[in-house]
Parts: sequence; structure tokens; C-alpha cells
Amino acid sequence: MAADSGPALERMPVDRLKRVGPRMLERLQRLRIRSVQDLLFHLPYRYQDRSRLHALRDLCDGDEALVEGVVADAQISQGRRRSLKVWLCDDGGSLMLRFFHFTTSQLESMGPGQCLRCFGEVRQGPQSLEMVHPEVQHRFDAGTVAVGQAMTPVYPSTEGMQQVTWRGLTDQALALLRRDPRTLHDWVPAQLLAPLHLPPLGEALVYLHRPPPEAPLEQLAERAHPAFLRLAFEEMLAHQLALRRLRRARRRLRAPPLNVRGDLRRQLLRGLPFGLTGAQQRVLDEIAADLGRSEPMMRLLQGDVGSGKTVVAALAALQAVEAGFQAAIMAPTELLSEQHLRNLSRWLAPLGVSVAWLSGRHKGAERRGILADIAGGDAAVVVGTHALFQDEVRFHRLGLAMIDEQHRFGVHQRLRLRGKGEQDGLTPHQLIMTATPIPRSLAMAVYADLDLSVIDELPPGRTPISTVAVPDTRRDEVIERVRTACAAGRQAYWVCTLVEESEALQAQAAEDTAAALRESLPELRVGLVHGRIKAADREPVMQAFAAGELDLLVATTVIEVGVDVPNASLMIIENPERLGLAQLHQLRGRVGRGTVQSYCLLLYHPPLGATARERLGILRKEVSGFAIADADLRLRGAGEVLGTRQAGMAQFRLADPLRDQALMQAAQQGADRMLEHWPEHVEPLIHRWLGEREECGQV
Ligand code: ADP
Ligand code: MG
Repeated sequence: MAADSGPALERMPVDRLKRVGPRMLERLQRLRIRSVQDLLFHLPYRYQDRSRLHALRDLCDGDEALVEGVVADAQISQGRRRSLKVWLCDDGGSLMLRFFHFTTSQLESMGPGQCLRCFGEVRQGPQSLEMVHPEVQHRFDAGTVAVGQAMTPVYPSTEGMQQVTWRGLTDQALALLRRDPRTLHDWVPAQLLAPLHLPPLGEALVYLHRPPPEAPLEQLAERAHPAFLRLAFEEMLAHQLALRRLRRARRRLRAPPLNVRGDLRRQLLRGLPFGLTGAQQRVLDEIAADLGRSEPMMRLLQGDVGSGKTVVAALAALQAVEAGFQAAIMAPTELLSEQHLRNLSRWLAPLGVSVAWLSGRHKGAERRGILADIAGGDAAVVVGTHALFQDEVRFHRLGLAMIDEQHRFGVHQRLRLRGKGEQDGLTPHQLIMTATPIPRSLAMAVYADLDLSVIDELPPGRTPISTVAVPDTRRDEVIERVRTACAAGRQAYWVCTLVEESEALQAQAAEDTAAALRESLPELRVGLVHGRIKAADREPVMQAFAAGELDLLVATTVIEVGVDVPNASLMIIENPERLGLAQLHQLRGRVGRGTVQSYCLLLYHPPLGATARERLGILRKEVSGFAIADADLRLRGAGEVLGTRQAGMAQFRLADPLRDQALMQAAQQGADRMLEHWPEHVEPLIHRWLGEREECGQV
């Protein structure tokens, strides 16, 4: 950087900007904004049109509008929630402004006769159209709008940060950048950008923060504008470079090559009541080949619910055991780990292979005995929950670490299990299993350091689950279905969902539903599980359901993962329109595990929007998780499908590897060119985009 340029924005702490005090600094840090550069990379996610004043009588529910008027009346109402109601009038209409939090000075500034200009979203309130917590201005030139308001940026925010604050901060950062563009280093060489017709970094940032009035709104909204693509490209480039670095580092690790004749595996296969599907055989071959190498396997095994991943895990474990090593399999809940214990013991005990189970329930001498078996090597295969991470757990010779339902674990936990097995400079092989289907094209682009195997076929002879959408006006009929099914000796799930993020509200909804169902179905034994009930207290309920001691299980989406109760043949999902397709498919996979015909009733709240109808239609028609994931991707875009964060998966802030496929390819080639010609730019670029993330520092 030239000596006469200002201080690098990358290193300039954000509190060097005016009006950033300790409280605001803390809020910014919540969004990982520490430097002025971080602030510049905090981009608006949309733009508002404030270029025109709306007459109050023209407003409609859902409008986002700039309005002006005189306060006719203001009152504090003491209803269920205390609120301030302000009636605003203009020549031909009126609007209610509503504030749930307000200060005394705000109250005074909105008294009758005051002129206000407000911007906000209009919605239908109980009495009239209203704006809840609009942005309010007291001083303005009535009837005129400042130029440049057509594209007002809206920033992703956090509690306590107003949009005006964001605009004020980014104004200052942009001023620094404009004064001296060299203070923000552009690590992407112009040679890579030119063929793609993408602008330099500073120009792109200025454009996105303050689009000119004539900016193509639609192109910006679709994130297809070159200014946006410039940043997306840079991010993809950073990811590709990080990926190459991870792979290089992994190649330096050593694992025990598990080369065996395969006698144990053959024995197990002979004893199974079924033959492997073609897909199971294929992924098993992929795994077996990896395990034979001296480089640690890092493989993600994807397979739809019920596709038979457990037996593949058992066969992989046998390869480790035959080579004289231990294998561990970790599940997210006690219930699932116990289920694995049952299956693995049934399959492996006849071969003389010992299976140990480490559960939170084991205490005292019993626990010490199990730990000794693991440390001494008497336990060849070890099953458990994240209890397997605890310091007191020592393996004798861990050759293979497997993690089931990996989306329930963080990268962190995954790396810890592997770390547990590190011994004599050897790293255990790793197999990570998930039922969350992600289309291959996407998986290849986003999985940071994992190879991918897919079981894309279900074992033969399954009766597909029959899925039906029922409006909640027919709730009584649905309750009768539950009564009939349970009277016939079957079991049922009733799943409650809520839009609210709040676990407390979800829990409340489930409690209310359980109470109502207990009343309508007094002859049934009804259990309840939700996220507010401690895991330790949830387990016995799940156990009781699994043992057939409960007829109906009311639950929130906590039951999503892997529970296998073959006698459960009916599932009711309330408000299915609120969940993603992949999640609905996972939930539904809890039934249809036995031989009887199973049903999934989607109890929706009418009227359904067009997209919601289409989504439920897909779920009724498609039985394959992969087909559903593809459809979901078309309907929602990669960002949301990947919304549930997964271990080992690259998280893009701006880029969308599916939408921007062409750019993704360019980024792959660009990464190679950068390593060759501009190696000194590689680390700073990775750091800019991935600096904070743990997965990029480790393999
Ligand atoms: P998931 O992939 O969801 O973990 P599981 O491993 O629990 O699925 O398998 C579901 C059921 O299918 C189990 O009862 C298992 O024994 C059975 N199964 C697995 N593979 C086959 C196969 N090739 N043919 C028939 N049944 C199979
Ligand atoms: Mg499973």
C-alpha cells in the first residue's frame, strides 16, 4: 500500500467512527462487525422506495409507505399489552400508529396537532389500518421528498440498532472509502475480473450501499447486478482457496490403513435377513476403499430416512475391527444411541465382536467398567452420545469415528471426536451420516472438506406413506382418525409447529394441544415432548412410546431425528405450511417403518397461498427425499434450503452456489490462477471472508 494512503479500513476499529460508543460497539460485535471494513461488507438486503408520499386513504394492507399527517389524537391503551396509539390524519384519510415501547419524550412529541412524517409497513389492525413502530420524523419540508430516497437501503440488523443508525454509520465508512479508495485493499486481480465484466471492489460497495436513483431495482433485488456479483465472486473465490488449503492440510495427516480380507463383513452379510441394495453396496465400496488408505477418510454419507445407513455403518465398523482397531458411533440422543446399540449388538454379537454402550445413565462402578473396556480395547465397537467426548473417555485404538444425524452436531463436536482418537500421530477415519438430502450439485460446491457418498435407493418392499392435506376446519375428523388407529393397536404422533422462533411459545402450543387431545381422547395414553422439557426427562417419554406404553405422542419438531417406532403408523403435522419441505419429509419419515400402511395428515390452516399449496402438493406426490430437496431448491433457493446449518458445510453470506453456478466455475479456475500468480493475496482474501470461522482453520 502506498505510504500516503490513509489507515487500512481492514484494521481500523469500527469505534473510530463517530457515535459508536461501548453499547453500540457491543451490538456491532454481535454481528461480527469489528472493523470499518466489516461494516462495508455488511450490505443492505433490500431497498425501500421513499421517493413518493402516499395519501393515507390510498394505503393498503402490506404496503410499505412514506406518509405525512397531523396527529388528531394520542392515547395510551392499557389492553393486554400497554401501547401508545396515535391517530394521524391528512386531507382525505387516517391511519393509526402503534407503539409498544415508547419514551416520555416520544409521547410528548406525538401529541395532538403535531406534524409527523412516518415510514413503515401498513397492516390491518383490529380496528383500522395501522403502522407498528414506524420510523418517525418531526422536521421535514412538508410535501417534498429529498432526491435519492428512491433506493433507501435496509440493513440486516440486531436489537437496538435502527435503520437510521446503520445509514449514518455506513455514510461515514463510505466517506472514508471515497476519500481514499486505496484504504480498502482489492485482493482480486483485475485480470480475473475483466473477462467477467465485474467492477472493482470499492465501486461495487459504494453502489450496493447507495444505489443511484436510476438503479435497476429488480436486478438488485434478484442479486443479479454486477456490483453484487462482484462480491459474490470474491466470496466464492475465498471459499475455493480455503477448500484447497483444507485439502492440502488433510493430505498431510496420517491415518491407520485398515486393510483386511473382509471375513467379518462377509459373515455379517451372510447372517442378514436381507441383501444390500445396489446403493448400499456402492457406498460401502467407496468407504472400504477410503479406509484402506493412510490418509484419513472424511466422508459424508447421505441417505434418505429409512435408506439403511445403520447397516452400512456396521459393515464399516467391522473393517476397523478386523484390522485390530476400534470403531465408535455417536448419535445425537440417548434414544438413538440405544437404538444403535440394539441393532449393532444383534448383528455383531454373533460374530464375537463386543459392542459397548456409554450412556449418561451409566453411573459409578458400571460406568468405570465401561470406560475401562473402552480404554483397554475390550470394547471393539462403542456406541454413545456426545458423552463420548468427555475427557474420561479414552480409546485403546480408535480407527473409525462415525457420527449419525450430523446436522444435530456442530463442526466443533465432530472435530473433537476425531481428536479423541488421535494417537501416535494417527488420525482416525471419519464417517458422517445424515438424512438431510442436499442435491449433489450443491453439495459439491459447499461441503468444505468432505467427500460425498449417497444412498439414493430405499430397500425394496416398503409401503409408501400416504400423505394427505386436510384443512384444520376438519380437526374433529382427524381426532377420530387417531382414535380409530389407536383402538386398532397402532400408535400416532401429533406434531405442533409454530412460526415463532420462541421455544417457549412452541412448548406452550404443544402443552395446549396435548391437554385438548387428552380431553377429546380420554381412553388414550398421551405423552408429551418439547424443547422446554429437559432431555433427561424427555427420554423416558420417548422410551415409553417406543415400548408401546403410550398411544399418542404430542411433540414439537424435537422428534425429527431418527426415532424408529415401527408400530407408529399415523402422523399429524399441524401447520405444515410453516415448515420447510425437507423438514416435513424428515418428520414424516418417523412413520412408514413397519409393514402396515402409514399415513401422514398435513393439518393446514386455510387459505393456503399458491406456493404453500404447491409445496404441500410436492410432499403428497414425492416419496424421495432427494426429489423433494430438488423441488424445495427450485421453490425457495439455495439460501433457505441450506438455512439449517450443517456441520462441515460452507456457509455463504452472499453467493448462492446454485444460482451463481457459472461464477462458481470461474471461481474454481480463478483460485488456481491466484495460487499460481498471486499467492500473496490468498491468505488475506480467505481471512476477509472466512477469518472468523473455525472450520477454515482446521481440517
Ligand atoms: P436410516 O438410513 O434412516 O438410518 P436404518 O438404518 O434405520 O435407516 O434402516 C431402516 C430399516 O431398514 C432398518 O430396519 C434396517 O434393518 C432395514 N434395512 C436396511 N437395509 C436394508 C435392505 N437392504 N433391505 C431391507 N431392509 C433393510
Ligand atoms: Mg438412522
